[in-house]
Amino acid sequence: MVTDWSFSVERVGGTPVTKFVYAFSEGNKDLRELLGGKGANLAEMNNIGLPVPPGFTITTEACRAYLDSGSQPAGLAEEIATHLDALESAMGRKLGEPGDPLLVSVRSGAAFSMPGMMETVLNVGLNDASVDGLSRQAGGNDRFAWDSYRRLIQMFGKTVCEVPGDEFEHALDAAKQAKGTDNDLDLDADDLRGLVDGYKKIFAKHTGREFPQDPKEQLDLAIRAVFESWNADRAVLYRRQERIPADLGTAVNVVAMVFGNLGSDSGTGVAFTRDPASGAQGVYGDYLANAQGEDVVAGIRNTVPLQELERLDKASYDDLMRIMATLEEHYKDLCDIEFTIERGKLWMLQTRVGKRTAAAAFIIAGQLVDEGVIDLDEALHRVNGAQLAQLMFPRFDLSAEPDQLAKGIGASPGAAVGKAVFDAQTAKELAADGDDVILVRRETNPDDLPGMIAAQGILTSRGGKTSHAAVVARGMGKTCVCGADSLDVDVRGRRFTVDGQTVEQGDVISVDGTTGKIYLGEVPVQPSEVVRYFEGTLDPDQTDDALVKAVHRIMSHADAKRRLAVRANSDTGTDSARARRFGAQGIGLCRTEHMFLGDRRELVERLILAQTAQEREAALADLLPLQRADFVDIFREMDGLPVTIRLIDPPLHEFLPSLEELAVHVAVAHERGEDAGRDEKLLAAVRRMHEENPMLGLRGVRLGLVIPGLFAMQVRAIVEAAVQRARDGGTPRPEIMVPLVGAVQELETVRAEAERIIADVVADGGVEVLIGTMIEVPRAALTSGQIAEAAQFFSFGTNDLTQMAWGFSRDDVEGAFFWRYLELGIFGISPFESIDRDGVGRLIRIAVDEGRAARPDLKLGVCGEHGGDPDSVHFFHEVGLDYVSCSPFRVPIARLEAGRAAVETQGSDSR
Ligand code: ADP
Ligand code: MG
Ligand code: MG
Repeated sequence: MVTDWSFSVERVGGTPVTKFVYAFSEGNKDLRELLGGKGANLAEMNNIGLPVPPGFTITTEACRAYLDSGSQPAGLAEEIATHLDALESAMGRKLGEPGDPLLVSVRSGAAFSMPGMMETVLNVGLNDASVDGLSRQAGGNDRFAWDSYRRLIQMFGKTVCEVPGDEFEHALDAAKQAKGTDNDLDLDADDLRGLVDGYKKIFAKHTGREFPQDPKEQLDLAIRAVFESWNADRAVLYRRQERIPADLGTAVNVVAMVFGNLGSDSGTGVAFTRDPASGAQGVYGDYLANAQGEDVVAGIRNTVPLQELERLDKASYDDLMRIMATLEEHYKDLCDIEFTIERGKLWMLQTRVGKRTAAAAFIIAGQLVDEGVIDLDEALHRVNGAQLAQLMFPRFDLSAEPDQLAKGIGASPGAAVGKAVFDAQTAKELAADGDDVILVRRETNPDDLPGMIAAQGILTSRGGKTSHAAVVARGMGKTCVCGADSLDVDVRGRRFTVDGQTVEQGDVISVDGTTGKIYLGEVPVQPSEVVRYFEGTLDPDQTDDALVKAVHRIMSHADAKRRLAVRANSDTGTDSARARRFGAQGIGLCRTEHMFLGDRRELVERLILAQTAQEREAALADLLPLQRADFVDIFREMDGLPVTIRLIDPPLHEFLPSLEELAVHVAVAHERGEDAGRDEKLLAAVRRMHEENPMLGLRGVRLGLVIPGLFAMQVRAIVEAAVQRARDGGTPRPEIMVPLVGAVQELETVRAEAERIIADVVADGGVEVLIGTMIEVPRAALTSGQIAEAAQFFSFGTNDLTQMAWGFSRDDVEGAFFWRYLELGIFGISPFESIDRDGVGRLIRIAVDEGRAARPDLKLGVCGEHGGDPDSVHFFHEVGLDYVSCSPFRVPIARLEAGRAAVETQGSDSR
């Protein structure tokens, strides 16, 4: 380490170019980017009159300048000196002055909370001389003074000079052992004096120098260490996982010390203003008498519940309650705090708006509305679709307190139970035999894909939220815990060990992709109450489930506020009914090709193999009533609501058996001297229809233009179904959607034929049928003004649009290289998960603008997976779509986010 480091005095023309240091009185809570969260909130508390020890904050900008250049920026040294002077006058003491020392803490604090990632040093300013002065300040309390000194050497050694922390721990343990105790409070002044000697030796051994006695040097080195802790490995890793930008830097807070280790009338604690797990009102916290702040988290002694403080020190307790109420009132939210009591006087050392569980987020938002602290708009703003999604996953029932093996990173939510397996092949085999399996790997790679598909859940010991396992699992909606680094995975031996326990292949484990926890054995799974509420089996007015009530209230507000309608993607009556219960206002995408599967395949084969017009027409005529019946079902379930039906989209060879399968059948038949008959014809058809790039081949509207009668049959089935429903007293609202259009001529041709059929079937005009198109080929977006002339609606197919805008096929890229792209930051999130605003989004904007310009009443929606993605929903609101459509399960999430988008853009909304 560099020991002669000190701030330089270079600067331009005598005045600092930038202000690098802010007294607490100069900051406020809105300056968190500049002052970090801790500094901004210390300033805020100071300004609203709460008891905060005096101090100042060195900005994140100073940190960035320091990290960029490797030295402190010009002017910083003087600014620190000026603020230190002011602090010294405020306290009436000088930093480290032997007779009557001022001590300070040097604390990191970035704009985003990074718990435990960076450094803090307490008791800076103590040395061999001032330790006696400190004792005199405390009325001759030698024990306290030496305890503070040993803490300084320990924290300073560890964080500033990288002395291995356990050497100090061992020395402390040895001292306790010598005294025959396991409580550090039993060590007296002499013991601690001896410990300080021991600590100094450890320090000298590792750094090659004596513990610095100059208080200013201590301060300088500590500040530098806090700056540098921004780039410590664990901080870098944490930021990558949490997607926090790497270039923000940390602020440094220099705060006059207050002492919780002055005796039994002193202590330190942490608290929440409400329970961050359940949202229940009350006071939650821990208190530790005669201790300094770091002891509470370090767990060196057992804390007592905060309520105990009422008995120990009623006055401080009452003060604390009053302050907590003030904070909630001021921040209008749940806060967490750190405090210290020095001889009966309460000091606030930190506060922030506290993290909470998804359930608590809803409950607390509702409570704050009841208390008149926030309005419903704000409550809606405070929750989000990701939290709601968490609440909708089935949960583990932990009431039997299952054996927790380890905890990793919850990378893709859900509750998965299965036999541990260690390779993709075994996963596939066991799953084929009907077993549920969890694929356990150190990390996954594209070869593991079949195993990942077969498994209920995926567990890895390495890698973060952007690892291959995490990305692929999220893409598949599969439960995944990654980076469980306490697991020692032995793939060859088909086992993993953790904390001395071994789990062999075939042992059942339970994996919680929400919390990242891994349990031994089968943990029972519960359906979520929130889903029961959405399904209508749990009445929010009858239950006393606080969460369901809160969700109901906020959802109702979202529905009242949102401008976007929410539809569902559904191909069956059953799914449509469920979607409607979940709040869908129609079907945005009904895929007709799903009606060609199962035992209807044979009809499709007849269609493909047809040699003559008659054979083809006969096959289509047989398909027609089947399709019509499907549409009748859906129109019934969605009565009165729009149903967008997409004409057949995939290439027809997808309905045929594979080339390999047919080739084998034919070869076997020939071997036996038999006639392969139909298989032979199918094989010839498959060969004839083979495409190098089926995604870009004969599919969508192209099929309709090439195969006579195909679209006509579908249109007729739709319209006849509608007429039948209308005759039965229903109100069907069919919307016929043509896929993969790239040129208006394609649409015009299909439209002309469809209109003839509609006119023919709906002779009396009793049913209104809309005709529109998907916008999923980039050319369609770019010529949308022309296309709108022939379309009554556009529905953005964002999956294909994303594939074609980027030029990659989803099936191939997600497993093959997306993890690498995410790692490199080429994109922050998969463009299939969340809409790529700059590229694909631009195509959408063009189509919205030009489409509406050509046809002002053009209906606009989206039917790709993005319709249920929170961030994408905000984008679709912004660009002015009329609706989003998503899978039934995501309908509530889209409703919530559409409501949030509306309240967040209130006033600035042009539409
Ligand atoms: P972290 O961000 O890890 O919580 P902090 O900077 O908050 O680190 O400090 C660690 C502990 O030291 C906290 O419990 C805090 O309350 C305590 N602490 C920090 N500054 C002071 C101070 N000036 N006087 C007394 N205790 C302090
Ligand atoms: Mg803290
Ligand atoms: Mg498509």
